[in-house]
Amino acid sequence: MRRDDCPECLRLWREYADATSTHIGLDSKLRLATLEWDLPSIELLTPEVEAAGARRTFYREAFRKHVATAHKADAETNEYGGDIRKEDGPN
Ligand SMILES: [Zn+2]
Repeated sequence: MRRDDCPECLRLWREYADATSTHIGLDSKLRLATLEWDLPSIELLTPEVEAAGARRTFYREAFRKHVATAHKADAETNEYGGDIRKEDGPN
C-alpha cells in the first residue's frame, strides 16, 4: 500500500499536524505572558505547553515508527523513514 492512501498515515499525520499547531499556539501565548510578566497565565500555560509538546513528540514518533514498519519497503527508497541506504559516501 502506498503511504498517501494509507488511512493510518493520514490519521497519524493529522494528529501530528494538529498537535504541532496547538503546541505552537500555546507556546506563543506563553512567550507573550512571559514578556508581560503575567504570572497567573504563565502558571496556567506552562503545563499546557509541556503537554502539547509531549503530544507532538508522541505523534511524530508514532508516525515515524508506523512508516518504518508498515511501509518498510518504500521507506528505503524514499526521503523519510530513517533507513535509507546510500550507495556511496564517506560513511
Ligand atoms: Zn501508513
